[in-house]
Parts: sequence; structure tokens; C-alpha cells
Amino acid sequence: MTRFTKITASIGPSSESKEVLTNMIKAGVNVCRLNFSHDTGDIQGAKIDMIRSISAELGKPVAVLIDIQGPKHRIGIFETENHYPLKIGQKFILDSDPTPGNETRVQLPDSDVMRSLSVGDKILLNDGKIELRVDAVFDDKIETTVIRGDEIWSRRGFNLPDTDIDTEILTPKDKADLEYAITKNPDWVAVSFVQRAEDIAFVRDFIAQRTSHPIKIIAKIERPNAVKRIVDIATAADGIMIARGDLAVEMPFEQVPAISRQIIRECRKLNRPVIMATQMLSSMVHSEFPTRAEISDVANAAYLRTDATMTSEETTIGDDPVNVVDTMNKILTFSDMDTIANPYDWSRIENVPENDWSRSVSSMAYLNKVNAIVVFARDTDIAIQISCRRPDIPIIAVCGDQVIANQLALVRGIFPIYDNYLFGQRDAFNSVRQFGIGTGKLVIVDDDKISLRTLD
Ligand code: PEP
Repeated sequence: MTRFTKITASIGPSSESKEVLTNMIKAGVNVCRLNFSHDTGDIQGAKIDMIRSISAELGKPVAVLIDIQGPKHRIGIFETENHYPLKIGQKFILDSDPTPGNETRVQLPDSDVMRSLSVGDKILLNDGKIELRVDAVFDDKIETTVIRGDEIWSRRGFNLPDTDIDTEILTPKDKADLEYAITKNPDWVAVSFVQRAEDIAFVRDFIAQRTSHPIKIIAKIERPNAVKRIVDIATAADGIMIARGDLAVEMPFEQVPAISRQIIRECRKLNRPVIMATQMLSSMVHSEFPTRAEISDVANAAYLRTDATMTSEETTIGDDPVNVVDTMNKILTFSDMDTIANPYDWSRIENVPENDWSRSVSSMAYLNKVNAIVVFARDTDIAIQISCRRPDIPIIAVCGDQVIANQLALVRGIFPIYDNYLFGQRDAFNSVRQFGIGTGKLVIVDDDKISLRTLD
């Protein structure tokens, strides 16, 4: 039984002891996500060191993914009550005055946001339970009408689904977090609330000015304007995260599954891996078993042939993170094997030119019924490109560089081995033996040479 869909686990208080983390990695974690919205600095640094040491002890490449909070916007504070009910139809003002608010007004601290709003735009609070519509925009205040009402609390974050926010992608906090994180050589950095390709270029430049380490960048897609610009953003980034939590607030929630499919399709064409994120096994924060709907959600991510799934609170604050990983592993493995049992229709390789070499590798593998594709990986590109054709055959990436092996741990169907000896020898038979493949055919990709070999 082989699992092609990778598991990203968010690491938090429940999962940061060495024993638990070791057992989670043994149970199937391929990528550890460290969310800088919560801990920062040396606390996260110590977790990165621990992941690296467990990965070395187990001889298993594991990717470290840093998640940067990004420009999450919040309202100011309220008077004595701390919260007020907002009623449908009432007027409510957001202004630049820092004095505590009441049932008629509250501060909107970001001048960038104030400047970006237009008449008719929606402002959503409390995960969309409160909806305000902008009636008038002035230099120092925004007048709104309450369209959907609920209790409004101090310092709550809000979403602006209709607005292109004219703001820098990295806040001062993000810059400090990233300055620190890059000293620990993470494999991937995820950037939150991306709106345009220029945001990725900005972060890439910020990193390049500070390190020559080849850190890869993931754009988190959680805003409607990012969905509209998915091709440009995915082209600028190295990978995509479908951040379904915020996305389902900023867009009609019924559209999120269709958008997810569209993003996976576009990213495959562009050779960019995709992580499907958020609320995959949420009930397992306290429950021993997933709900039926969660089982289907995880399985569908595998059937959509996403690169990786992701756990959130269930592994950061959950009762049994190892059981969560074990559960996800079981569902993904069964679904991936089912995909192989009901083989892929080759006519569905969308928009990849007939003469594309990665398509040739995949069709050679498929037509010859090979057991594995072995790639001698000098960088990540060739292996990722083959993976994006979704050959549904293990891609064994023999890497002479630990960073390449760790980065490839996130990518669908790739089984990275870091082994300088094997890489130097380029002996495909030795490489596949580690995976228990004894006989049968292999496709070997070594630089620009593609060959077919038989193991007797
Ligand atoms: C999301 O919104 O789905 C998400 C992954 O983002 P956050 O960093 O807020 O968890």
C-alpha cells in the first residue's frame, strides 16, 4: 500500500514534544507547518531544530513550512462593555479615532484599508456573521449600514471580499518573523492574504536580500482577488495553499469546492504543488474518530490528486495528534490505491503539449506498466514536473542534497531519498530496493536522459 497524497501537520502545544512529534512523523507526516500567527522567534526555532533532528534520526526527509500571518486587519476596542450588538438596518461608523467605540462607531486602525474601501463594498466580521455595507467614504471615516447583525467585539479581525487592499504584503511583525525564520533555513514559506503576483515577488526579494538558501514560497489563496489572479500568482510562487478557512468567509462557501478543483487544475499545468488546507479532521480535536463528512473530504482531496492535505487545530491543540495523522494516512492511502486500481484516463492530461518531455516520461511509465519512476534529482524542478503529470506511479527522487529531499517531501507521489552515495553511483536498482521493489520495469530520468530498465 502506497500513499501519494502528502500530509502537512500544523504543530502546536499538543504536538511539540519530541515523543509526540516523532510518532506523528512515523505515522505519516511529510511536512510540518509552524504558524507564526501564534508562537514566534526562538520558540518556533526550537521546534524547527527538533523536526530536523527527528528527520535525521528516522532517515526520513520532512519539509519545514513556515506560515507567516500576513496583513490580517482588526477593528479597535470598545468602551466598558467590550462588545455591542449590531442590528440589521442600523448605521455604523468606522473611523480613525482611537478612543474606545460604542454601538454607533469603532476605530479602523489601518489607514491603508480606509483608503482602499469604496461605496458598496462588504465588510465581514465574526467569520461573516456580521456584514456591513459601505455607504460613504471620507478621509477619516467610513459610513456603513448593517446588513447582517451579531455581537461585535473589540479587536476582531475582518474580511473585505470586494476590496483590493492597497497594502504591503508583509507587516512589521511579518518582517521580523521572516528575518528570524530564514536564519533557520526553512524549506517552504507560506505567505498569507496574497492578492497579486507582485506580493510574491516582494517576499522573494525580501528573502533573497537576506539569504542565498533556496527557500520556496507558497501563496495562500484566501481572497477572491487572488482566485481571479491564480495563474499569475501561481506562476510567481513555487506552490499554492488553498486556505479554505478565510476563503469560505470571503467567497460564497458553496463555491469553495469548485474553486479548489480549478486551482488544482491550473497548478498542475504550471507545475506547482498544492496543499488543501483547513478543517479536514476538526472534530478530532476531541473525538477519537472523524465524522463521515470529514472522511469524504480527506478522500476527495486524494481523488482530486492534490499534492498534500493539512491538519489544523486537530494537531495543534487536539487530544491525540498521532491518531489524527494515523487516520488521515489510512484515508489517503486507501483512496490513492483506489485511484490506481481504476486507472487514469490519459486523454485527461490537460493542456500539456504532446511533445512535453514530462508527459513522455509519464506515458512511457504508464504504457510499460513500470513499478516506479526513478529521478536523480539535481534540483526540484524535474521531479515536480513529472509529479504534476500525475503518473500515479511512485516517483523515487534520489537526492544528493538534503534541502532538495526535504522540499520534495511536500509533492504528490514523490518519495525522496537523501543519499550522496546513491546519487553519486546513479544506480537505480539500489535506489528502488529501499522501497521493496524487487522485480519489474523502471523508468529512469537522469538529467536529460530517459531510459527504460528491467529488474529481474
Ligand atoms: C485558512 O484560512 O484556511 C488558513 C490556513 O489560514 P490561517 O493561517 O488563518 O489558519
